[in-house]
Amino acid sequence: MPMFIDTSPPGHCIFCKIAAGEIPAAKIYEDALTVAFMDIGQVNPGHVLVASKRHAVTVLELTAEEAAAIMQTAQRVAVAAQAAFDPDGITLFQANGAAGGQTVFHFHMHVLPRHEGDGMALAWPRK
Ligand code: IMP
Repeated sequence: MPMFIDTSPPGHCIFCKIAAGEIPAAKIYEDALTVAFMDIGQVNPGHVLVASKRHAVTVLELTAEEAAAIMQTAQRVAVAAQAAFDPDGITLFQANGAAGGQTVFHFHMHVLPRHEGDGMALAWPRK
């Protein structure tokens, strides 16, 4: 079973509230289209989520401009994670729809620092 499922309506979901500053989050970057904040369930230290500011549920709903901005922010976060955590690798991934392993239904990409032998199963959804 997923650890957490948020099916709130658009504008009321947990990541909309984080993007709007209505609930606390450890934000590390934001611009007009994206916001990056620490994942509350750190799989590895430095685990960050990059979300669209606008409520889009999956990659299918992003505009081309949003998709490009998400990747640009994820790349910036990955560069910062490399400098801060000196990982052996970094995994970027994102899930679309419950069958794809998505548990928060507001588009986000994971930026996950990895270390040799960290043992994290990459199977998704997480068991
Ligand atoms: P998904 O399973 O790919 O949809 O990822 C959802 C992620 O959101 C999980 O890694 C959760 O730990 C994370 N998450 C859920 N609620 C919060 C929150 O309030 N702040 C930060 N991260 C959250």
